[in-house]
Amino acid sequence: MNVKDRIDELRSMLNRYNHEYYVLDNPSVPDSEYDRLMRELILLEQENPEFMRKDSPSVRVGGEVRDGFVKVRHQVPMLSLGNAYSLEELEEFDARVRKEVTDFSYVAELKIDGLSVSLSYVNGYLERAATRGDGFVGEDITENVKTINSIPLKIPEDLSIEVRGEIFMPNKSFEKLNLEKLENGEEPFKNPRNAAAGSIRQLDPKIVRKRNLDVFIYYLMDRSIAKDHYGSLELVEKWGFKINPLTRKCANIDEVIEFVKEMDDKRNSLPYEIDGIVVKVNEYKLYDRIGYTAKSPKWAIAYKFPAQEVMTRLNDIRFQLGRTGVVKPVAELEPVMISGSLVSRATLHNEDFCLARDIRIKDQVVVRKAGEIIPEVVRVVPEVRTGKEIPFSMIDKCPICGQDLSRQVGEADYYCLNPHCEGKHLEGLIHFASRDAYNIDGLGERILTELYNDGYINTLPDIFTLDKYYEDLIQKEGFGNKSVDNLLSAIQSSKTNPLDKLLFGLGIRHVGNKIAKILSGHFVDIDELMEATEEELIAIDDIGEAIANSIIRYFKDEKNRQMIAQLKQLGVNTVAKRENAETTSYFSGKTIVLTGSLENMTRNEAKALIERKGGNPTSSVSKNTDLVIAGSEAGSKLIKANELGVKVIDERQFMEIIERES
Ligand code: NAD
Repeated sequence: MNVKDRIDELRSMLNRYNHEYYVLDNPSVPDSEYDRLMRELILLEQENPEFMRKDSPSVRVGGEVRDGFVKVRHQVPMLSLGNAYSLEELEEFDARVRKEVTDFSYVAELKIDGLSVSLSYVNGYLERAATRGDGFVGEDITENVKTINSIPLKIPEDLSIEVRGEIFMPNKSFEKLNLEKLENGEEPFKNPRNAAAGSIRQLDPKIVRKRNLDVFIYYLMDRSIAKDHYGSLELVEKWGFKINPLTRKCANIDEVIEFVKEMDDKRNSLPYEIDGIVVKVNEYKLYDRIGYTAKSPKWAIAYKFPAQEVMTRLNDIRFQLGRTGVVKPVAELEPVMISGSLVSRATLHNEDFCLARDIRIKDQVVVRKAGEIIPEVVRVVPEVRTGKEIPFSMIDKCPICGQDLSRQVGEADYYCLNPHCEGKHLEGLIHFASRDAYNIDGLGERILTELYNDGYINTLPDIFTLDKYYEDLIQKEGFGNKSVDNLLSAIQSSKTNPLDKLLFGLGIRHVGNKIAKILSGHFVDIDELMEATEEELIAIDDIGEAIANSIIRYFKDEKNRQMIAQLKQLGVNTVAKRENAETTSYFSGKTIVLTGSLENMTRNEAKALIERKGGNPTSSVSKNTDLVIAGSEAGSKLIKANELGVKVIDERQFMEIIERES
């Protein structure tokens, strides 16, 4: 395709996307795709100025005015902002400003992802509210804006002023609205921005009121009232307008960059969507000197965060067996950068999710990755289908063992119920050794699969007896002395891992990282947890019936109990360590067994006390035991301790030591 044709193609795509976004409030592509095409157009136009046109989407602001609204001409055009897509581009902006002026500061503000509004007050009363429209002519939305509680209808001073700000829909209201839409069989809004824009342009203000819109003001148009932008925001706030509380005055671009980084971290925990940071020169007197382009002021710029939603091709769909037997569809993607990391796989959740969205192999899909969240396919872009796409169909046999999959009524997932399915065991082992769980260096998915297939590791305890195959392993292709030594020593040192890592690694259903930590904070050791009743478990914050039952079911299973006993025998730590344990106590560092009944406290209280003193309470006596505390009617454990020559003290001696140390 020649340059002219590409420019025409880009313009026609961008015009269509503008219409969908600004007029229909229903974009088909994510902003990152729009921005990518726009950047390509701008570049081609710069390189080929002979093809430049006054009506190119690259020089136009916003969209057309929608029918049904009265048109309003803005006294001062409502411009857009120049964009910076990296910190370097932000520094380039700073260099451009410094070329024109010296002695200035910046104001850095959140770039709220909503739609801009102009509010005109006459003699202190809200007279007119208008959308940006095409920058020159907007839509009169006064009646609708009056339903937004944070916009004052009267300001204290009898002033005639215009302020501008961003109307947005808080995330909670957006989720609620979309739920209602789904329940009514209507198409949900794509994002809070489109929901806000669609809501403010409802013809019935009663509907707008229900949408819970909000606003942050970021411009006072009259620059004679305050001396700088920051001062104007303080003033406007005094008049009763809502200013974003995170707005910050910055002495220079370094402070701006610090703000950008801070806000990027905070971004996903804010109650509203932001897509970047707006940076404005603070001093009004410098504005005219710095100047304007046709589309935006040169004294301000919008830094855009790396996109969290990106469009890419769905190359294939794989079915992945998890350690619980769940089989889930996974998208194999054309790799793309999202939120600063390269993504080539994303979850497709389950059959219903794929069918509801009509996801097809070879589709262009929108993939989202926010913060630490696993990337997911959000929707397809059917507008760009070629006709060669292959509709989704769920498999009915386990991808590993080939047995029928089952989907229970009321559940969304399919499960392989074959207890001997090799895949499940292997997935369980992979999970155990993974970084988030037991974190055994060098025992990643590839090595583990190989060791599993070769029969060296079939169960969790096998991991800890791998050293018996040392000679075999060093002969294996791709292993060698050094890597085997490293692997075995990583396995050896992992044995002292905290209890929560073990509990998470076991793969008990519903026991994720967080619950594992809660459990290890609550129980002295795995033995105590294994004996816990449903009531005891439910009494713990954050643990409900489903989790409690799952834990009980797991530890009731004789095979699991045997496996844990084996792990203990192999020296795997099963005791919860307390961070604030003392180290100077008589008990610290000692492996201690309590037996018989105590008069002054319960067995659990005694265990907790020993723990606090830095001791390791365990349940069975062995040659590794340092001390046995024998209450009355102590039985076989006391006999064994005597046989092995382990030091024994009674409850009175125990209490004396405690008192001496307190
Ligand atoms: P912009 O989003 O790049 O920035 C300008 C806007 O930022 C202002 O008009 C204002 O509304 C807003 N803003 C938020 N906080 C602000 C603050 N503190 N101070 C000043 N302004 C603030 O430009 P735009 O012209 O509004 O929109 C263009 C963008 O819209 C594109 O970059 C794209 O991401 C998106 N878009 C997407 C599609 C699509 O199909 N997905 C189509 C058209 C536009």
